[in-house]
Amino acid sequence: MIELEKDVKYIKGVGPNRVQLLNKIGIFTLKDLITYYPRDYQDRSKPKELYECYDGEEATIEVIATSRLTDTRLRNKKTMQKLQVRDESGIATITWFNQSYLKNKFEIGKKYRFYGKIHNKFGRIEVNAPVFDEIEKKNNTGKIIPIYPLTYQLTQNTIRKIIENGLEDVKKQGGLEETLPQYLLDKYYLEDINKATNNIHFPKEFEDFKMARNRLVFEELLSTQLALLQLKNNNLTEQKGIEFDKNVYMSDVIQSLPFKLTKAQLRVLEEIDNNMESDKAMNRLLQGDVGSGKTVVAMTASYKAVKSRYQVAVLAPTAILATQHLVNFQKILNQFDIKCELLISGITKSKKIEILEKLENGEIDVLIGTHAMLEDNVKFKNLGLVVTDEQHRFGVKQRTKIAQKGQNPDVLVMSATPIPRTLALILYGDLDISIIDELPPNRKKIETFAVTKQLEERVNNFVIKQIEEGRQAYIVCPLVEDSEEEENDLKSVMTLYEKCKSETFSKYTVEYIHGKMKQKEKDEIMERFKKGEIQILISTTVIEVGVDVPNSSIMVIEDAQRFGLAQLHQLRGRVGRGEYQSYCILKYQGKGENTRQRMKVMCDTNDGFVISQKDLELRGSGDFFGTMQHGIPDFKIANLFTDIEMLKLAQEVAITIVNNDAKLEKEENKLLKELVKDKFMNRLEI
Ligand code: ADP
Ligand code: MG
Repeated sequence: MIELEKDVKYIKGVGPNRVQLLNKIGIFTLKDLITYYPRDYQDRSKPKELYECYDGEEATIEVIATSRLTDTRLRNKKTMQKLQVRDESGIATITWFNQSYLKNKFEIGKKYRFYGKIHNKFGRIEVNAPVFDEIEKKNNTGKIIPIYPLTYQLTQNTIRKIIENGLEDVKKQGGLEETLPQYLLDKYYLEDINKATNNIHFPKEFEDFKMARNRLVFEELLSTQLALLQLKNNNLTEQKGIEFDKNVYMSDVIQSLPFKLTKAQLRVLEEIDNNMESDKAMNRLLQGDVGSGKTVVAMTASYKAVKSRYQVAVLAPTAILATQHLVNFQKILNQFDIKCELLISGITKSKKIEILEKLENGEIDVLIGTHAMLEDNVKFKNLGLVVTDEQHRFGVKQRTKIAQKGQNPDVLVMSATPIPRTLALILYGDLDISIIDELPPNRKKIETFAVTKQLEERVNNFVIKQIEEGRQAYIVCPLVEDSEEEENDLKSVMTLYEKCKSETFSKYTVEYIHGKMKQKEKDEIMERFKKGEIQILISTTVIEVGVDVPNSSIMVIEDAQRFGLAQLHQLRGRVGRGEYQSYCILKYQGKGENTRQRMKVMCDTNDGFVISQKDLELRGSGDFFGTMQHGIPDFKIANLFTDIEMLKLAQEVAITIVNNDAKLEKEENKLLKELVKDKFMNRLEI
């Protein structure tokens, strides 16, 4: 049997140094290696004649050397190499810098193939630093070349070679074992796993690549769908859910609110109400844009549960957010004699003991908290409703864990990173979906501008103007947690803080906050910001989630190109929460078309659904905030935007299969069962 889990260090060409680099990009085993799919391809197979080459294109040329390589010394110890070449149609100069070792590589009169960027200035053709082969070889040119995502210090050439060796190793071991049942391969014209794996890396023709990709995408999406259906079926086979009291009216709370609910909020509450009164357990995803008012929906549902004599658990991803929820819940629910409490890791031991006791004997009705609530010693007397806020921060396991503290309680998961309904329906196959697609009235659009470094001073002046008017500002820096660059990032937060404090905004109170600080420190800073004691808060994305400071009216985001769109949208949602016109300034670097487009989307719209759709559309594989922010499982090869048709097909196929064989126990589905197991063990965190 083929050994796919073998350590990548045993692959030819992988020494100790390279092992480390490979590990950094998530490649530990042979399997990881051969499933590290290219993000793009360059077609270096079809040579062009020199006269056809236009300025700026990357092209392959086949030419004869007409001179020796000259090696010229420049200033600063730099050198320049030039080679004259020709083909039937014209002549060109090939130029390199600091590549003196090329000196004896070329012979006059011999033919070579080059691939590189062409400069064509009025018919004078130059090619800069191209890769090349002698004409009879095809190492770097003359074929379709895969381009791999994120490789750190590994060059494309190196990783390509290592993957080639990996595939060679697989072949020596007798090839991969098929992972899809034959009947599916036949029915959907899919090629076998070996062919697909080879061709996804080294296709000879683009047609080969298409076939390979097709098969791999189908497999990936089908296994996800099957896994989801398994989850859903598990839910169904459980015992009945709770029937909440039909004589408890949500309208009683709704009337006591200081504002009128939007139509969308009312519709969603009706869906929830019906669910709660039925004897089926609720499993509902509530999607709504930042600021669309999900909290009040959760609170109204909590009222219904408590007045039906059940307890409620509200799970939030951060202490700041949990605390804020507590305040909001109490404001309304106290008058109905509902007791809300907070459980976060920051509270004192004696307080905690008190809470746990009261929870167990039913004196607490609504417990709001963080991960601390998941601990085993947290026991409810009669848990009937579980609300999870910002669901993408929690996995299935955590959701299940909290639900298990009750007898099949109703579950409401809330998400502020909305994704298109069609997609949600497929991805959250195990949940019903409610959508708040309307913001409360009188919300002002957050004016968003994307600027480059040149405008820094104007941006700073604008911030000062806002502060002089009594407002507060956020300045957000990227911090990629758990990454290579974390330390540098952290440094950059501190450097920025020092600069702002001592120079740029020296007249004002500046503070900073980041995820590596102690919870208590963070809470303290947020508290002071809320009270208005801090005017400018330098922060990493710890403020991303739910924090409500209505007086803050401006947010500057540094290096905005490094954030995903959904995350930018989340961040931006921290301003514009009060009566003031609010602004978001995206400072970005880089001239890439993709970056420009992404910034434009942010400036053009405030609609989270539109943004997430665009995000999927524009996302490059280099985006290391990836899909996590959506709570979408990470796909290795499928692209949820371009592969939506395949996704629909995979869903249909999965449903048919499960209808015939709910637990995938039939012999013909043995392989599928393996695939699903693999999903659950490795990556299904939705
Ligand atoms: P999110 O959906 O992002 O969690 P919140 O629930 O925090 O949004 O609501 C954002 C703000 O809007 C809160 O201050 C809340 O009190 C307010 N709000 C919610 N619903 C309405 C409404 N129908 N009319 C006016 N304000 C509302
Ligand atoms: Mg919220």
